[in-house]
Amino acid sequence: MATAQPVPEDSPALRAEVIATARGMNAAGINVNKAGNVSVRCSRGRKTGFVITPTGVPYDALTPPDLVFVPLASPATGDGLPEGVIGERKPSSEWRFHFDILRTRREFDAIVHTHSQAATALACHGLGIPAFHYMVAAAGGRDIRCAPYATFGTQELSDNALVALRGRKACLLAHHGVIACERTLARALSLAIEVENLAGMYLRARQIGDPPTLSAAEMDRVIEKFATYGQPAARKHA
Ligand SMILES: [Zn+2]
Repeated sequence: MATAQPVPEDSPALRAEVIATARGMNAAGINVNKAGNVSVRCSRGRKTGFVITPTGVPYDALTPPDLVFVPLASPATGDGLPEGVIGERKPSSEWRFHFDILRTRREFDAIVHTHSQAATALACHGLGIPAFHYMVAAAGGRDIRCAPYATFGTQELSDNALVALRGRKACLLAHHGVIACERTLARALSLAIEVENLAGMYLRARQIGDPPTLSAAEMDRVIEKFATYGQPAARKHA
């Protein structure tokens, strides 16, 4: 498992990077309107947490003060936010899976969530993405799983996502969308784009039958090669 990086301070520059990533999702065609959300791990003094896009604000109108800092302390019971949230606005309704992923997966510092079309189309059938193409390994394993459906914003959805993300950097969410996790915002966005690209190819491949899949041994070889290159989310190795 990758070692944790130093956590940057919450700053206007870091928040601007989150906003640029949110706008980047829409520019890349993997998100429409305000459906998705973005977070990055950071600290405020001695408190570690993350900043996340707020609920209900169009990305074009977002400014750094609109983002919300959520401390990675123990959450309140039920769907309540943890104590110590800082912000004028409410965090994204999906703050809980950002919270749970960043709290339990120290190798990730940035999360991108989208409702990208092809990946969500597969997820509406409860389908993940098997090893039909070697780039599936960009998500860290032999396949990309689809988490069972649960209502948006709930602990159940977060729990399901955490299971689907075991040993993976990305998963689909049934009847919902995609989560992509990485060490930087740029890499998380790149991974979300890659997952959508793979989902689109898989949908097309399925139109003429179930495509054969690569063997576990071959996928393990690709995963190993990606680890050596250190660029799994980019397509520079091709
Ligand atoms: Zn969503």
